[in-house]
Amino acid sequence: MDTIYCSFCRKSNETVEVMISGHTAHICDRCIEEALLLIDRERIHKPVPTNLEILTPKEIKAYLDQYVIGQDVAKKTLAVAVYNHYKRLRQSYEEEDGITIEKSNILLLGETGTGKTYLARTLAKLLHVPFCMADATVLTEAGYVGEDVESILTRLLQAAEYDVAAAERGIVYIDEIDKIARKGDNPSITRDVSGEGVQQALLKLLEGTIVNVPPQGGRKHPDQKMIPVNTENILFICGGAFEGMDKIISKRLNAGTLGFDIAQSRSQGTRETSNLLKHVSSNDLRVYGLIPELIGRLPIISYLNPIDAKALKSILTEPKNSLIKQYTKLFAMDNVQLTITEDALDYMVEQALSLKLGARGLRSICEAVIMDAMFELSSEKEAAVLLIDKNYAISKLSAAKVA
Ligand code: ADP
Repeated sequence: MDTIYCSFCRKSNETVEVMISGHTAHICDRCIEEALLLIDRERIHKPVPTNLEILTPKEIKAYLDQYVIGQDVAKKTLAVAVYNHYKRLRQSYEEEDGITIEKSNILLLGETGTGKTYLARTLAKLLHVPFCMADATVLTEAGYVGEDVESILTRLLQAAEYDVAAAERGIVYIDEIDKIARKGDNPSITRDVSGEGVQQALLKLLEGTIVNVPPQGGRKHPDQKMIPVNTENILFICGGAFEGMDKIISKRLNAGTLGFDIAQSRSQGTRETSNLLKHVSSNDLRVYGLIPELIGRLPIISYLNPIDAKALKSILTEPKNSLIKQYTKLFAMDNVQLTITEDALDYMVEQALSLKLGARGLRSICEAVIMDAMFELSSEKEAAVLLIDKNYAISKLSAAKVA
């Protein structure tokens, strides 16, 4: 064999361990290793992925619109907040002018199954940043049985495949934040220590600090190697149903501290039917039992509307990956052409409404209606047609006893 030379360092194949040859050039193992180091270094210094730089709030909302039905106010608020968040993130790489844009974490209020988590998850997908979800109810302050707040970051690290730099600009959704509210309005009398303790523990995380994170989760113990994670650029979105908040808001509104909007809607008699959550103030959150420091770290507040029948039907059929589109595709893979009649859809929506689980109820209803057909028809070799009408849906649902 002829002697060949690395095109980069000119070493011959006799003096290196591995030589890889292309059409007209060769590279030795050492040069590959050095190139890899350079690539790594380049990646670490790359400030923000390009798509974070170019998306405007309108583009962000347009993307959310493809997946999430309704909830325009929440979408707009999120789009602007996210746009500013990543603008702020870029700022740290640019020249100092003495103005610091403060971090803006977000609080979303809305009944279960209205799309809070889904919005956060869809945003993360658009931005190509790591995303994780955590449930505030399993968190406890250090020393109690449960998970330390650091465990949230363990999940984020896992979602980022332990790429710390990526995790540090990810999105965390903390669900059921309302469940760690202090019970009762008077902190000195009815003190709910564990809830308040978790709120305290979350403060640092939300504000931005370096947290030592156990890579595999679980309790910290002295000989476990920790990964330091800076939470300064992590966007935290907290969500909760805040059951009973409507009473707090309406009490305040009826007490006379009314804005023009309320006065007007009251005179039109529309207030009872509109979503009271849209009037939520930081003081209402305090009355509900969030500590002022935590409220201060969630400066952007938005709300989601309850899902009505019209929205449920749209959710079922319209979004890019709606349930019906997914089932249609699954059946098509087995050569089955699925058709669902309008009245069958309306019936399924009606049943989902009665479950009071928001859009979450749709999946179990659909599964119950479609399961038998999927079992039977998927084993057939021949092409087939499946027509689901109202009677079919009624018979499957009553057999499954879901609704
Ligand atoms: P929440 O966090 O408000 O309790 P989720 O976001 O987890 O509710 O919603 C549950 C599921 O219902 C989502 O995964 C999504 O498929 C569907 N869903 C909920 N709200 C919407 C919506 N507004 N548009 C489209 N799908 C929705």
